[in-house]
Amino acid sequence: MSTSGATEIQEKKNSIDTSVWNMHCYVAGKAISSDNLLEVKSPYDNRLVGTVTLANSSHAQQAIEAALAGGKKLTRYDRFSILEKARNLLIERREEFAKVISAESGLAIREAIYETGRAHDVLMFAAIESLKDDGQIFSCDISPSGKARKIFTLREPLSLALCITPFNHPLNQVAHKIAPAIAVGTPVILKPSEKTPLTAIKLVELLYEAGLPHYMLSVLLGPTNEIAEPLVKDPKVDIVSFTGSVPVGKRIAATAGYKKVILELGGNDPIIIMEDADLDVAVYLAAEGSYRNSGQRCTAVKRILVHEKIKDAFIEKFVEKSKTYICGDPSDPKTVVGTVIDEASAIYLENVVNKSVEQGAKILLGGKRNGAMMEPTVIVDVPRNADMVVHESFGPLAPILTFKDIDDAIALSNSTAYGLSSGIVTNNMQYALRFIKELKVGTVNINEVPGYRIESSPFGGIKDSGLGIKEGVIEAMKCFTYVKTFSMPW
Ligand code: NAP
Repeated sequence: MSTSGATEIQEKKNSIDTSVWNMHCYVAGKAISSDNLLEVKSPYDNRLVGTVTLANSSHAQQAIEAALAGGKKLTRYDRFSILEKARNLLIERREEFAKVISAESGLAIREAIYETGRAHDVLMFAAIESLKDDGQIFSCDISPSGKARKIFTLREPLSLALCITPFNHPLNQVAHKIAPAIAVGTPVILKPSEKTPLTAIKLVELLYEAGLPHYMLSVLLGPTNEIAEPLVKDPKVDIVSFTGSVPVGKRIAATAGYKKVILELGGNDPIIIMEDADLDVAVYLAAEGSYRNSGQRCTAVKRILVHEKIKDAFIEKFVEKSKTYICGDPSDPKTVVGTVIDEASAIYLENVVNKSVEQGAKILLGGKRNGAMMEPTVIVDVPRNADMVVHESFGPLAPILTFKDIDDAIALSNSTAYGLSSGIVTNNMQYALRFIKELKVGTVNINEVPGYRIESSPFGGIKDSGLGIKEGVIEAMKCFTYVKTFSMPW
């Protein structure tokens, strides 16, 4: 019995789908057998949805050795063919992947299906890019001191990448690490989130099936002090590509040592609604940005900043729109908002809402929690120093703040430690230009949600959200290579 709106949370019913996926970590294609099992439970009803045999520190060393020992060197066409085969297999198994994503993460099945489409695009773009030449040519006779030579560049794969992924897009985050690495021929050790390991391992198995040589990919889960931390520090690892929270990202930055480090960290993205905005567009974008994926996107709308002149009209429409984001059983196709990742996260969200109310905020819709399910929640009059404004809250919360003019909007937007992305709703070109120039973020989307991108466009944040080094298939491929130059007389 799904409920419409966020006023009441659906009672849990016994799950329709009781599949249990028993899976293994892999060292270069070899399944690890161990009595040490990770149990994966549904955030929705706590049923067992899968198990994973865990790795230990010796498996981590074996994975390094296998990657460095190498194997068949892949041509561009080989890499294209593997990625293309994987893309086709993913289309065939889309429903199965979506079921696993939804079961282990609590994301609504419709979000899980959408995510398989995004991962498909990642594989497709990586396949396409793998065929393109990545060299440049510099003629040297172009200055008074020049001479008749040419400098050429080529990109060489790294020896080994360590890729660490978060829980919130169990498939797409993993695809965004592995596919660009395969496209350039760099071997990977993957360390997925222990909250959503099943989807990640399914993708690894699919890539083996698509013909990926086993030395190119291992997937390990186990105690942080045996797997993730020693691998981060290991000098044989050329790059750590990490997506996750700010504290863990900063710890990796401090411990990785002399190697490349890519950090894609948290966000606190605003949607800024100017007084000239089309209100229906603003309401739609604010709701989609706040509630999609249970609000668990690094680029989810985490602050709605509205010009004070249109505040009342916006809020009235926004509350009505928010009621259409039905929360309930993630496996029900009618459910729009599933659970957050676990009960502890939902309790954090509930507390952060209650704390803002103590500071003077008012809840207009939602605000209740049941287990790991947090209702889509509209909160107004939120003080600028409230926790949910200053810090990242990873869930379906929609705090609304007002500003008086564009200077105030820019100052408020830039006032947090984060700098991932932003969305602006305006039809005024002068406003758009000022936001593009003055927001301290990695992305400014005009009349779109902060999360808008295609899988091959550059993506990534600044300040606490990242070091300004971009991902997205094309940029990530650059990260997974070294540039070599050579020159010749001409
Ligand atoms: P998290 O707690 O930082 O975990 C991310 C990954 O790091 C997991 O695989 C985790 O493993 C691992 N890890 C934990 N401690 C580690 C350590 N000491 N050394 C190395 N690895 C370690 O993040 P999360 O809660 O899964 O994900 C949510 C966060 O990711 C949010 O802040 C979100 O904004 C951010 N995110 C950012 C982007 C972006 O592109 N900027 C995209 C998506 C998500 P275990 O699971 O075993 O703990």
